[in-house]
Amino acid sequence: MKFIDEFRDPVLATELVRRIRATAKQPWVLMEVCGGQTHSLLRHGIDVELQGAVELIHGPGCPVCVTDISAIDLAQQLASLPGVVLASFGDMLRVPGSQGSLLTARATGGDVMMVYSPVDAVRHAQSHPDQQVVFFAVGFETTAPATALAVLQAHQLGLTNFSVLVSHVRVQPAMEALMQAPDNRVEGFLAAGHVCSITGYDSYDSFAKRHRVPVIVTGFEPVDLLQGILECVTQLETGTAEVRNSYGRSVERLGNPAAQRVVDTVYEIDDRAWRGFGVIPAGGYRLREEYATFDAQRRFGLTRSAEKNDPTDTKRCRAGDVLSGRLKPCDCPEFGKACTPDSPLGAPMVSSEGACAAYFRYHRGSLT
Ligand code: SF4
Repeated sequence: MKFIDEFRDPVLATELVRRIRATAKQPWVLMEVCGGQTHSLLRHGIDVELQGAVELIHGPGCPVCVTDISAIDLAQQLASLPGVVLASFGDMLRVPGSQGSLLTARATGGDVMMVYSPVDAVRHAQSHPDQQVVFFAVGFETTAPATALAVLQAHQLGLTNFSVLVSHVRVQPAMEALMQAPDNRVEGFLAAGHVCSITGYDSYDSFAKRHRVPVIVTGFEPVDLLQGILECVTQLETGTAEVRNSYGRSVERLGNPAAQRVVDTVYEIDDRAWRGFGVIPAGGYRLREEYATFDAQRRFGLTRSAEKNDPTDTKRCRAGDVLSGRLKPCDCPEFGKACTPDSPLGAPMVSSEGACAAYFRYHRGSLT
């Protein structure tokens, strides 16, 4: 076991690997939903340790990767407007849209500012009343509370020069889309621990029953991941399909009600285009009418291009197939050749949570 010696708790990890192998009578196909879990699985070699017992396929849980091309195009347009500063997390700057990335927009004169939090963007708007500051709000249920708080803060301050390009997405509707796909291979889910710490996992009960698929709320440390996998494999071997919480130290059944209240105050559920999936019903959020004055699209009269909301990426990039678990990154013809972290062709190679970046970094597939 070349990896497990490096674990914080190698004895427990070794025992969990042994038990998973002893329990799995056939190789089960499990999907970890979160990109952070993908990186941890590969960094610690868990995919290698469990070869033959479990096939891990990687889900759409990288927020940068699933942000639709139409949203990036809008962000670029906004950055190019006179007097507008587009504030974004750093990971988004290199993600390609149909006309290049936000870095391209910056190189051609657009005003793009990297921030670490939406509150930074609010502060900038406060101290620069001559500028219109637009925050590019991407991410899952984990980041939506922070952008909702930023909107509330801007509202309380009476800022008229702050707005938000809302591109938040919701995880469970994407899991629904995966299960409904005719070529779905997922037999069990490791649900994303961080998302469930906000949303809870009550709503997964009906999902697990409807699709007859185990859903195990799972953390990010190697032992967390192995415990989630063991629970999933045990259920599959016994014909059970239930929701279990293997991340009890961070996740409660009902999640974080205070964060949910903030999100519900500012946002309502909306259909949303996902890169690699197309439009997913109830797959995202939009600002409620009471806060529509902070909607950057309305403020600047921009509309998303429906024609870009299709499930394909660029011609060469197979991000759609990677994000839906249909293709391993190393099986993309461009992987490690035309597409590397230094010269990425698609979002999953750009993002620190992207599956292609993980395969490259940890030498899977053709690089091994
Ligand atoms: S390896 Fe590159 S080109 Fe291929 S799917 Fe991943 S990001 Fe796209």
